[in-house]
Amino acid sequence: MPDRVFREYDLWLTIDQPLFVGGPPDPMSEFHSPVARIGGRAVIPGTSVKGALRSQLERLLIQQAARNPVFRPCIPFPFSRLSADEHTLVRAGVYRGGACEYGKGPICPACYFLGCQSLPGFVMVPYLEADKDPEPAYAAARDRATSAVHRGFNRNVEVMPPGTTFRGVLRILIEDQQRKWTLGREREHLEPNTDSWLRELSHEERHVDRLIDKYVVEPLKSICSIGGKVSTGHGWVRGALEVKLRSEVAV
Ligand SMILES: [Zn+2]
Repeated sequence: MPDRVFREYDLWLTIDQPLFVGGPPDPMSEFHSPVARIGGRAVIPGTSVKGALRSQLERLLIQQAARNPVFRPCIPFPFSRLSADEHTLVRAGVYRGGACEYGKGPICPACYFLGCQSLPGFVMVPYLEADKDPEPAYAAARDRATSAVHRGFNRNVEVMPPGTTFRGVLRILIEDQQRKWTLGREREHLEPNTDSWLRELSHEERHVDRLIDKYVVEPLKSICSIGGKVSTGHGWVRGALEVKLRSEVAV
C-alpha cells in the first residue's frame, strides 16, 4: 500500500529572445555574470521558477481577496525586512503582512501550496534544464561624452540563445497517509486553523483537479518574466511556460 501519491507535470519553456538568469558569481568563470548552472548544464534555478509562480499566484489571490480578505497572500520576507513600499501595500490591505510562520495563526493560500517557514507546501518546483549551451553577450558601458566604449569596462555576460528549451518536472503532493495530508483538506496533526482559508471554498472548489488547475497550472502558464534582469530585457519570457500532466505516481 503506497503511503504517498504525487502528480507529476512536465514543464517546458522555449524562449524567443535571449534570456539571462544568473547564478552566483563564479571565480572560475571568464564571465562577469555567468548563467546559473547545475552539474555543468545551464538551468533556470528552482528558486527563480518558484518566485515567478508565486508572483502569479499572488496576483490571483489579491483579486480574490477583494471579495474575501482570507485569500490575502503574505509577502514572503520577514516583516522587519519589508521595504517602505511593501509596508504601504500591507497597510492598504493588499497583502496580509510579512512571511507566514507556522504556529502563529492561519497561513495564507500561497504558503499552503508553496510552503513557508518551517512548514512545507504541496508543490515541489523543479529547476528547468536547458537543451543548449549559453553564449556570450556583450554589455558595454558607453562614455556619455564621446559615445566611445569605455576601455576595460566591457563586462561580458552570458545569455541563453533564442530557441533554447528549458525542461523540468513539477511534483504535487496529493496525499500523504502517514502525515494525514490531503491536498484540498486542512492538514491533520497541525496547529488548529493553520489551513483555515480552505473553509471558504465550496466542496467543488476543493476538488483536487480544480485546485491544481486554478492555483498552480493557470498561474504557471501566465508567467511572463523569470529571473531578476527584466529591466535589461534579459528576463522577459514571451513564449509561454507549457504545463502538461505526465503521470500520477505512488511511492
Ligand atoms: Zn504566506
